[in-house]
Amino acid sequence: MLSYELTNKPRTGLLIEKKYGSWMFWGIALLVIPLWMISYPETTVKHNFSPFLVYASQLSSLTGFALFSLSLILTSRLSIFENWFGGLDKVFKIHRVMGKTAFFCILAHPVFLALRWIPQDFSKALWYLLPLHRRLAINLGSWALWGMIILIFFTLVIKIPYDKWKISHKFMGFFFILGVAHLFFQGISFSENLLLGIYLSLLSASGISAWLYKSVFFDLVKKKSQFTVIGVQYLNDSIVEIELQPRKNTKISFQPGQFYFFTFLSEDLPAESHPFTICDRTEDARIKIMVKSLGDYTNRLYSVVAPGTPALLEGPYGRFFYSSTNAQQVWLGGGVGIAPFLSWANYLLNTPNHSLKVELYYCVKNIAAAIHLSTFEALEKKMPGFHVEVISEEINGYFKPSEHPEIHTKEIFICGPKSMRKTICKELRALKVPKAKIHSEEFDFN
Ligand SMILES: Cc1cc2nc3c(=O)[nH]c(=O)nc-3n(C[C@H](O)[C@H](O)[C@H](O)COP(=O)(O)OP(=O)(O)OC[C@H]3O[C@@H](n4cnc5c(N)ncnc54)[C@H](O)[C@@H]3O)c2cc1C
Repeated sequence: MLSYELTNKPRTGLLIEKKYGSWMFWGIALLVIPLWMISYPETTVKHNFSPFLVYASQLSSLTGFALFSLSLILTSRLSIFENWFGGLDKVFKIHRVMGKTAFFCILAHPVFLALRWIPQDFSKALWYLLPLHRRLAINLGSWALWGMIILIFFTLVIKIPYDKWKISHKFMGFFFILGVAHLFFQGISFSENLLLGIYLSLLSASGISAWLYKSVFFDLVKKKSQFTVIGVQYLNDSIVEIELQPRKNTKISFQPGQFYFFTFLSEDLPAESHPFTICDRTEDARIKIMVKSLGDYTNRLYSVVAPGTPALLEGPYGRFFYSSTNAQQVWLGGGVGIAPFLSWANYLLNTPNHSLKVELYYCVKNIAAAIHLSTFEALEKKMPGFHVEVISEEINGYFKPSEHPEIHTKEIFICGPKSMRKTICKELRALKVPKAKIHSEEFDFN
């Protein structure tokens, strides 16, 4: 007898994307400026050269440090962050923006300090940027910066395979800790500015804890649900549908459209976890995902996945729901980005919602690529307010919002390749469609 629980009712009353998370996190980061002003003009570090360079170097480093800490906190995958930002893909987006901004702010710190020797002594200025200082406290900061430079180089300049990049990126936390040591050894004076001291201590502690939690303990402490592959169906030459069954006493609950991080335990596959959306689930708790072979891991999975393969599921994640106050909706699914819409449709087939008026535009290269079209056609029969139209690139070209004059009165949901999402969002903005009416889920975290 299998005992498990599977709730699938869409969350009601949850506005899809509450964006105050961004305001809050940027607010916390920029709070460092008024706090620093408390001890202005007495900086905690005594220098005998232009005050502008001293203040600029201090403000840039402190702002960079605050952003660095917050970008680490955002990697902890806490569910509350998904509520605040509107889904894990949005959390990663702000993690990236804050991380990059932090890097350039921190880089500006020694550059401002080295500018005191420009133009009279360029070599002295350049040497200053290297971790060759007599004082350890300064070298700690320099090592932290050069560590970030190397890792950012592999993020922004040299593109290495995602899974290798992910491993390298985990070392960011180590350089954050060096930065914390630099900050405290270099001289945070609690007596001169207690509030700033407390603020920086809290950011240091939460940044280090978040990094240790996500990069060291996460796989040890995070609950993973055990499933087994029971069916493999090749839908076309690049998409495989995998059916999984929960192991004994496995309980999971998720919302239509949500995804899990899947780790397939097979000697033929690297022990990596990748996000895939649950497209369907049956009464007896079997679930289905569709995987498009896009890169090294999914290519491998496509060719080796077989019934009997154990899998671990970590999640659920995602806040991409059709539940909205506006029943007039446009759903735009491109390629394997149709997955969350397929999940919604399978749910609505069981529990039709006749107040919904949905136009689904299924954007594919050609008709043959429109997998599971029959599911959407079945929903058309069951829910008269639902209508599906295949947009075949080979026949119709791309979906053009301008050809749908009433589109700005609707709630718009988009999931598909980055280029499709960007183009359509740009055209919708040109049509003055309010940003709040456009909801998307990104199938890539970088
Ligand atoms: C929210 C979400 C839901 C998704 N749902 C599905 C789905 O239902 N079906 C499907 O076919 N694909 C889905 N994907 C995409 C899928 O996760 C990637 O295609 C897959 O991880 C690619 O790995 P790769 O090694 O084959 O490709 P790579 O070439 O290594 O990576 C290609 C891109 O995939 C992303 N990616 C790679 N590895 C990971 C990882 N471990 N975690 C997060 N992103 C990664 C990166 O953005 C990378 O640039 C989803 C992605 C996200 C973010």
